[in-house]
Amino acid sequence: MEKKKIKVVKFGGSSLADANQFEKVGAIIRADESRRYVVPSAPGRRFSNDTKVTDMLYACYDLAEQGVDFSQALQNIKDRYDAIIRGLGIRDFSLDEEFRVIHENFSNKIGRDYAASRGEYLNGKVMSAYLGFPFVDAAEVVKFDENGEFDAVLTDRTMGEKLRAMDYAVIPGFYGSKPDGSVKTFTRGGSDITGSIVAKAVHADLYENWTDVSGFLMADPRVIDNPVTISTITYREMRELSYMGATVLHEDAIFPLRKEGIPINVRNTNRPEDPGTMVVESTCSKPRYTITGIGGKKGFASITIEKAMMNAEIGFGRKVLQVIENEGMTFEHIPSGIDTFSVFVNQKEFEPHEQAIIAGLHRTVHPDLIELESDLALIAVVGRGMRRTRGTAGRIFSALAHAHVNVKMIDQGSSELNIIIGVENRDFETAIRAIYDIFVISQL
Ligand code: ASP
Repeated sequence: MEKKKIKVVKFGGSSLADANQFEKVGAIIRADESRRYVVPSAPGRRFSNDTKVTDMLYACYDLAEQGVDFSQALQNIKDRYDAIIRGLGIRDFSLDEEFRVIHENFSNKIGRDYAASRGEYLNGKVMSAYLGFPFVDAAEVVKFDENGEFDAVLTDRTMGEKLRAMDYAVIPGFYGSKPDGSVKTFTRGGSDITGSIVAKAVHADLYENWTDVSGFLMADPRVIDNPVTISTITYREMRELSYMGATVLHEDAIFPLRKEGIPINVRNTNRPEDPGTMVVESTCSKPRYTITGIGGKKGFASITIEKAMMNAEIGFGRKVLQVIENEGMTFEHIPSGIDTFSVFVNQKEFEPHEQAIIAGLHRTVHPDLIELESDLALIAVVGRGMRRTRGTAGRIFSALAHAHVNVKMIDQGSSELNIIIGVENRDFETAIRAIYDIFVISQL
């Protein structure tokens, strides 16, 4: 007999911002009976300058902590849920008692994490009543240790035992509990992580992450008009791109699934007909273009150290990096030549340490010259398709030359999965457009 398919579906805040959005979500879940485990976020923004319920909860709790009357602020939050419940026409269901308990807990200053977690908790209650799926409190199944570190092993066991005995369930995202029972949240956007953990625990076939975009775009839409959607991306490619600023999924959502071979499908609640982006461990599927995507960030500085015969000096690179480390800083890239060694760092982070680092370098490696450059941008051209393709770097270079962009640095990762290009901040957009044109537009 064929095994029943299991999908875990996570819905982001904008997908659950009001009753109308909830209805779309209901239709998506009912359209496929393998969508059994539902992970909701808290209600998000209904329009662009609206406030997310999570932020309302933080603000409300701050009042409670200051000993100021927070009843109205809490009532405003309750109004958001009541509007959803009314709009959906859920009968014989009310959150009055829940809000009474929350009021009392806030008065007792129970903690900020508890406060923030109520957004997901209450939305889970509403979702459970709306769908008729049983509710499982995440505090029961998502475990942190006494230091607040997520306990992956205990969670997997506890959650697996609980959920595998249930055909359907709603598990609110974003939070869990510590051994003393107190609530602990993940970092912001953490419902994505809960979705991954649930998918792993129930051995899902697929983790669908529903949001308000139709997947990952090949480039930032603020730079490129209507960029193409990526149909399949590997975890590693996604990591390279998200590090360079493209964030759709929470970074930590990848780790629970990476080794499980469970793919993530990023979908759009407002356009359920779009296939979205598949995020997979690995794939034979040939990417449509040589590159999978382009990411990038502005605001870097470079420190270039020149010294004759540097290449023969044992420990040179280590000493340079030690100086950076001693200042408690990280570095982004270290392109090197025969007698030069450059370190790219975040400019804002670097500024307060600048003089200490220069002094440290003089003291430890006695360079002939130290040159600093600021206002640099890094662009990452990422793609598994580049691995076996000749001339990718050449094409990038000539596209940039045609666009009159001066390349400050180029660094091909040894995995051949990415090429990082350093340009001046002011050339950032032009450079991305030139690269997109050569690999995408000219191939359309
Ligand atoms: N509601 C939480 C936040 O706003 C978590 C999430 O939406 O994933 O960060």
